[in-house]
Amino acid sequence: MIPHLDLKLVNEPYLEELQAAAARVIASGRYIGGGEVERLENAVALRCGVPHAVGVANGLDALRLILMAYKVMGMLADGDEVIVPANTYIASFLAVSQAGLVPVAVDPDPVTMNLTASGVRDALTERTKGVMPVHLYGRVAWSDELARVATDHRLLVVEDCAQALGARSGVAGLFDSRMAGGLGHAAGISFYPTKNLGALGDGGMVLTHDAELARTVRALANYGSTERYHNQYIGLNSRLDPIQAAMLMVKINHLDEVNRRRAEIARKYSSGVVNPLIELPLMPAGDGLECVWHQYVVRVPEHRDRMKLYLDARGVGTDVHYPCPPHLQPCYRELKHSPLPVAERLAGEVLSLPIGQYLSDEDVDTIVNLLDNFR
Ligand SMILES: *Cc1c(COP(=O)(O)O)cnc(C)c1O
Repeated sequence: MIPHLDLKLVNEPYLEELQAAAARVIASGRYIGGGEVERLENAVALRCGVPHAVGVANGLDALRLILMAYKVMGMLADGDEVIVPANTYIASFLAVSQAGLVPVAVDPDPVTMNLTASGVRDALTERTKGVMPVHLYGRVAWSDELARVATDHRLLVVEDCAQALGARSGVAGLFDSRMAGGLGHAAGISFYPTKNLGALGDGGMVLTHDAELARTVRALANYGSTERYHNQYIGLNSRLDPIQAAMLMVKINHLDEVNRRRAEIARKYSSGVVNPLIELPLMPAGDGLECVWHQYVVRVPEHRDRMKLYLDARGVGTDVHYPCPPHLQPCYRELKHSPLPVAERLAGEVLSLPIGQYLSDEDVDTIVNLLDNFR
């Protein structure tokens, strides 16, 4: 039996280190904020080439706090539009809506499955104030053209980096970083347990090149308070727990090797599978760092659901990211959008294969053989 993802196996190699780190936090008496959180903020900021990082409760909060902060800073206003890829996880949309802004869904490129510059350009209106590139499945959504359209139209670029920590763009970002999370003005990260860098519970982080944005996010996440018992904004409570920061500090030291092993598994799939019913994901050029393979997603036109059942019956778990795009969810039935044929087609064709770093070469061979014998 090979499940789609086994979180126990993900964390098993670090068991003793994690236990020691948890014991340290328990003994410290400091259960909110403090050095554990600061250390992780510094480590993630350094890794992504950004000057500021703020630990928050989860990835959705990270994104929505960025947008809320831009509002209190006067850079966004109620009803402003933020362009989002139509095939993303719904959290990208929710962050925009919850900040009182309007998500504008744009069809992705069918090959990279990411937002494109021309898609963004076609969706621009006089209310467009931001764009949220989502590095879906761990693949960097960035290009010179995307940077140009954002700069030309003075768009705030908020990366949804929930799936791509450790990935690196082939071309320059807006500032001096090429790392996912450092490409735009700000980025939201998720440490949800299934992500490549996952906590043992919820967690998230805001990254930014802008000191004022970082300060404002920190205040908004702390009841809108800039100093104790002085509340500047109508904020919320959104914090990264020290115990999760300590877990993540153990695991961040292994992130590169995790990402490398996932890339190795991806290459094994891509060189092994020859079944013409299955369309393989694009392999990144160059050093391969443009994708950290949060998911290895194949497309199976016509036969996706049948193939999922076939693999299930043979002990291989798969998942679908995502079966229904946000604009077709009941909560967005009022959302106006242009036709989104690519996102709607992808929802019926995508299938995520197991890609956990703990998979053995034999596991991968087993899955490749099953895929090639599917008729
Ligand atoms: C996981 C994820 C989020 C949300 O992160 P949470 O920590 O679960 O709130 C947002 N966007 C994308 C693309 C994600 O994959």
